[in-house]
Amino acid sequence: MTAAAQDCKLPPKVARPVIDPHRCEGAGDCEEVCPYGVFSVRKLTKDELKSLPLKPWLKVLVHGGSQAFVVNGDACHACGRCVTACPEKAIRLTRLAATEQTRDA
Ligand code: SF4
Repeated sequence: MTAAAQDCKLPPKVARPVIDPHRCEGAGDCEEVCPYGVFSVRKLTKDELKSLPLKPWLKVLVHGGSQAFVVNGDACHACGRCVTACPEKAIRLTRLAATEQTRDA
């Protein structure tokens, strides 16, 4: 069993991370620590930037215009590494409702 598998608390498709766009600065720690490739950090599009309120908009621009996105949420095993690694405390794990779990199955 790998170290990543030992940390797994749940099977996939039971929980997934949620990123607070008001906090994320695109540091990339989540992308680095996740053993399942759940995150991708990229530059925001003009439309995504426009959708942010003033304070997070300024924060994103000051930190290079990038944020983290959940691109493979079904692979999350709820190990919690991303939650611990994020310096801005921008990530929380949420348990999917039973209907969401079966929809993806
Ligand atoms: S809890 Fe975070 S680090 Fe762990 S598998 Fe899920 S997304 Fe990846």
